[in-house]
Amino acid sequence: MDGRFGVSSAITVIIGGRAVSGTEQEPARAELSAVGQALEILGDRWVLLILQRAFLLRIRTFAGWRDALGISESVLASRLKELVGHGIFELSAYRNGRTRYEYRLTERGLRLWTLLVAIHTWERDWADRRQLQPLRHDLCGEDVKPYLGCGACLEPMSARDTRTEPGPSAIFSRIGSSRRHRRTVRSVAESDLIGYCPDSMEILGDRWSTSVLAAAFLGTSRFVDFQSGLGIAPSVLTDRLRRFVELGVFDPRPDGSYRLTDKGLAFFEVFAFLVDWAQGELPGREGSGLSIAHRPCGAAFDPVLLCTACVRPLRRREVRFILSG
Ligand SMILES: [Zn+2]
Ligand SMILES: [Zn+2]
Repeated sequence: MDGRFGVSSAITVIIGGRAVSGTEQEPARAELSAVGQALEILGDRWVLLILQRAFLLRIRTFAGWRDALGISESVLASRLKELVGHGIFELSAYRNGRTRYEYRLTERGLRLWTLLVAIHTWERDWADRRQLQPLRHDLCGEDVKPYLGCGACLEPMSARDTRTEPGPSAIFSRIGSSRRHRRTVRSVAESDLIGYCPDSMEILGDRWSTSVLAAAFLGTSRFVDFQSGLGIAPSVLTDRLRRFVELGVFDPRPDGSYRLTDKGLAFFEVFAFLVDWAQGELPGREGSGLSIAHRPCGAAFDPVLLCTACVRPLRRREVRFILSG
């Protein structure tokens, strides 16, 4: 790597909290960085599917998600309860003969739309999900493929032209075990043709995967460096690296190191909005913030989605998915 990614220890700030030694306990939430907390909340396939349906199909009711996703009522109830608890949905009563309830996205929830759009476009471009709906930009009337840009200079932004600094209390740490029953979703959701984004969910739905990829964005490429930087068990690391090669996200090199492919580098777009939402919405442990700058203009991190047609930033109310068929 050319060193432009900044220090690799930043990865511990991104995901981790205080080191927890020798147990499988998850770090307490207050000990996690904002991004670590965001992954706790969002790193779950059902949660991402529930949010996708809320944004794409404007689903607001328990029965709506149950019927759209074929999710069990107990799992749906627990996920909605968590999302209400995290201030992403709020429960609101309305009368329709009798009193019913619907789940409305709060302002915090609505701010997740850039992350959801970024997942959507990455899957469309890189994971052979071309049947996913295009996005229409109302300001210019074009169907667009949004791309990551810098809110200050409105130029494209990538992993390669950002500089990342860890907060002052950067420490290496273990990452908590991933959430229970995460891997049980796959068989059900594979039949989902509208909004299932398998590759994104494989990365975001597993915190080890997200951290390995984040470390790669920050310049890590050798097995030993992933291992020491993340405190990850060799067997787990071997498994994640193998999956990333299968997914076409990493390219193994003859010297034993791993290079991000174009597909892997493009996932930075998803990652950027995850970091932005997390740091804007969640109270991270003091000093665990991540300072990212756009190197060409020097401005602080302010990721926006830009329109391929008119090059203006996309705003939530000015874009919509075209649902065909
Ligand atoms: Zn810039
Ligand atoms: Zn446009």
